[in-house]
Amino acid sequence: MLLLSACQSTEYDLIIREVMIYDGSGKPAFKGDVAIADDTIAAVGDLSRAKAHNIIEGNNLALAPGFIDTHSHHDHLLFEARDALAVVSQGITTITVGQDGSSHYPLKSFYERLADTPVAVNVGSYSGHNSLRDLVLGKDFKRKATPDENRKMEAMLREDLDAGALGLSTGLEYDPGIYSTRDEVLGLAKALQPYNGRYVSHMRSEDRYFWDALDEIITIGKSAEVPVQISHFKLAMRSLWGKADSALQIIDAARKDGIDISADIYPYPYWSSDVRVLFPARNFSDEKEAAFILKEVTTADGIIFSAYDPSPDYNGKSLSEVARMEKLSPEKMLVKVVTELEACDEQKGNCSGSIVASSMKEDDIVKIMKWEFANICSDGSSSGLHPRGFGAFTRILSNYTRETHTFSLEEAIHKMTALSAENIGIAERGQIKVGFFADMVLFDPVTVNDNATIANPQAISSGIKRVWVNGTEVFNTNSTTKRYPGKVILRSTL
Ligand SMILES: [Zn+2]
Repeated sequence: MLLLSACQSTEYDLIIREVMIYDGSGKPAFKGDVAIADDTIAAVGDLSRAKAHNIIEGNNLALAPGFIDTHSHHDHLLFEARDALAVVSQGITTITVGQDGSSHYPLKSFYERLADTPVAVNVGSYSGHNSLRDLVLGKDFKRKATPDENRKMEAMLREDLDAGALGLSTGLEYDPGIYSTRDEVLGLAKALQPYNGRYVSHMRSEDRYFWDALDEIITIGKSAEVPVQISHFKLAMRSLWGKADSALQIIDAARKDGIDISADIYPYPYWSSDVRVLFPARNFSDEKEAAFILKEVTTADGIIFSAYDPSPDYNGKSLSEVARMEKLSPEKMLVKVVTELEACDEQKGNCSGSIVASSMKEDDIVKIMKWEFANICSDGSSSGLHPRGFGAFTRILSNYTRETHTFSLEEAIHKMTALSAENIGIAERGQIKVGFFADMVLFDPVTVNDNATIANPQAISSGIKRVWVNGTEVFNTNSTTKRYPGKVILRSTL
């Protein structure tokens, strides 16, 4: 009886006391307490007289909304590791998957699986153009789609939108999307409009045809009348370095024109992808092309093999090192790498040619990150060599906030929470606000650090103390709690 009456007089499930509250809005932080009831933020302010089942002393640490990763590949291996260590250990509470044109199909089944087997974090998804195109065109994909095939892809997209997809993602540098016309993509984007769906794109080029690709996404935003987002915005070629201002001027002019265009970006000067993406014309045996790539797009020292199936002994080595090993010039070596990868695909199918490659300049990264409508993403996964999978968000807090002062802490958090929610159309998350879902991260701004590097890509960040998803703690001092409160995030206009 005593226990019961104690419970009855308790108002909240949890109070986190005496924290600096960064509420996600970008406004100055303030000292206070936050109360959670069930999965919701129930009160914010001076709660020194309030009661709760549990009280945590915040000791003036920073409390922020859980970070929202607008471009994530962490769904890979998610059901095998439902505690999502790579995600929650950097303070992320919501991931958005189905990126670069590649999604689970049908999304309805993916959502059902997530509901049956929940994971630690919230998961939203786009419907992926490449996945739809692959299902409709099959192996005969190196061509324009027919009107009938376009109709089929649109019907599948509508099915995913009915199930709750956030919108459509494209990966136009990848097969099979690279063979689509602008009209094909525009047709699909137009199907989003009645659903208030969004269009996000790994653009057709991030290097040599960048300006055309930028024109394509702006045109899609204008003609389809849907919000568009540039995925992992980058200027990944020598001749583009220093052009961030010019690119942002074009995008700002489009915004003035009424086009709702935003971008996400991860904080590293190197990317990770399939090595074949370096050859947009797919002319893999062309040594001149290989020489151009190694001079203009990246360098032989700048390419590190991450998961190269035809010769796994290359992994962890640079193209220069591998070329020396094989006694070939770097150009010849690059040609050998892509042709052997193609042969592997022919024989076995689905061979990985994953590399990390340095192509971007720090000044451009900073300018794009600071752009008012750019939010932070990881583009990461729980495997591979790129450290973004474990460290993108904490790197913003350490390197770009505490160390270089690129951002104030308020600004950095805004770009990882409320702005992210706005840019992908998620409601009731991304702010510490009464009535919002209790996704939160408690961290120490003085010690927070990304520890992941290419040499040690799975090193866990430090300084992230505790993380809650929908009011349930999922991470506490370097360990996951093996609790799975994550929800499926459906399009908020549903
Ligand atoms: Zn991408």
